[in-house]
Formats: sequence, C-alpha cells, structure tokens
Amino acid sequence: MTLLGEARPASPCLALDIGATKVEAALVAFDGGLGTRRRVLVDEHPHDLFEAIVEMARDVVGHQTVACVGVACAGPMSKNGEAVSPLNIASWRAFPLRSRLEQALDVEVFIDGDARALALAEGLFGGAQRDTSYLSMVVSTGVGGGFVLDGRLLDGDSGNAGHVGHLIVVPDGAMCSCGSFGCLEAEASGWAIESRTGRPASEADQATRVRTAELVGRAVGTLASVLDFNRCYVAGSVALGFGDAFFESANKSAHAAAQLPYSQHLEIRRTGLGTDGSLLGAAMVGWRGVT
Ligand SMILES: [Zn+2]
Repeated sequence: MTLLGEARPASPCLALDIGATKVEAALVAFDGGLGTRRRVLVDEHPHDLFEAIVEMARDVVGHQTVACVGVACAGPMSKNGEAVSPLNIASWRAFPLRSRLEQALDVEVFIDGDARALALAEGLFGGAQRDTSYLSMVVSTGVGGGFVLDGRLLDGDSGNAGHVGHLIVVPDGAMCSCGSFGCLEAEASGWAIESRTGRPASEADQATRVRTAELVGRAVGTLASVLDFNRCYVAGSVALGFGDAFFESANKSAHAAAQLPYSQHLEIRRTGLGTDGSLLGAAMVGWRGVT
C-alpha cells in the first residue's frame, strides 16, 4: 500500500473533522492512536466558526509539538482546500481555509474532502487494509466517496475525484444540488429520501430502503466494471441505519450491473472504521501531506 510516503513523523497530527453539524478536533499519532477529542457545534457559531475552531485547536494542542494539521471538510472545495464552500456552513463561501489555518496555527495544513479522507482511513485502519484497489463510500445526508486504485487515492485535476454521488442512476430523475438530474445523491441520500417521502431516512419504509440499496448497488457495480476494483466499503448513517438488508440488496444489484469476469468477486461491505473514522481520515490527510 502506498497511500502514504516513507517518512514516519514522531509528533502527532492535529486532526480537524469539519462535518455537517459539528467540528471535531484531536491529536492523532502516526499509529492511529487518538488523544482527547473536542468539538464545537456549527449552529452555535453562525458568524465566528473559524475563531471557535482555532480556539479549540489551540486548546487541543496545548504545549505539544505537532507535525502537521490534517483537515477533512465537506465540499465543494478547490484543490488542497484553498477555498472551501461547505453547503451547511453558509458563512463560508470560497473561504480560504488552508491559508487562514496556517496563519493562525503556524504549522503546515493539508485539507481534503471528507469522503476522500475516509477512504484513506479505510485503507490504513479499516476494512481495506489488505486491498490495493477499492471504493470507499459514504451514504448519509449526502453521498460521497474516494477511489483507491493500485494503492493510491485518485485525486483528479482539481482534487475532487471520487464524487460518486453525482453518478446518474435514474435517467431524468430528481434534480440534484449539482444542477443535474437523477444523480445517486438526488435519489439515495438522506436528504433525497426525506424530500421524496416527507420523513427522515431513519423512518423510511421497506420499499424505500430496498430502492436506496439497489441504486447504490447499481452505481457500485457500474463503477467496478469501469475501474476494476472488487471491494466497496460503505459508511454513513443511511446505509448503516438500514442494516443487513441494505447490504444484501446492494450486493445483488451490484452483481447484476457488473457482469464482466474481473468483477465476479465484487462485494459491498460495511466500513471497518468505528466512530473515530472521520478524525482518523482527517489525520491521514495530514500524514499524506507530510510523508
Ligand atoms: Zn449531482
């Protein structure tokens, strides 16, 4: 696996996970050991979120030396997180997160998308430790992902490779936040389910659950044929909340879509990461930057 470089930093990384409702921080050692976690709630800081994050970061670091700051952030963002515009943080539009954090904390800062960060953590600490090619997916309020092929996380021209939520799975389907129609995110995400049914995804009926799993499976099967991977790891409250039935239906649908000989062993599994996955992912973004 070549997800990280050769260097083995002795100091911890300050990991910042900037999510939909909260921002979490912790020091993470190179072996994945996690220090005390702290959090600030996005809603409680409509105008001073950045200042609250910096204060929390300084608190977490204390007098320790850190090797780098690794940030996992909701998108969209420009390359390396120079300008981030997370949909849920209205006051951040093209916000220069990387340079502002570097100025405030005086240490190198590396930023990547939250689902891509999770893909790194899945390979180093989760279910994909023995896989050289896999797709890591999040099916939650939104749908995101990261591709690892031949042991490397795919970046793409603008660093945004892995946006599997915008694969079109229903021709002329529901309008998506990206402006297109029938994207996986517009059909199978938490917000899509809520806008279709008028109820939160956690209260979805059987038919909705099966449909969601089948659409995810179709997307994974199609992508597996295109990119030649046999493992997909899925995290996120919608997929995990739907339980075993989700994985059964998704696998069936993926196999129906991926018929080529090299995709015969395709399997969609639950993430091997626990509740620390997002912070581990953020730390891996930092380690990927400095190693
Ligand atoms: Zn879309």
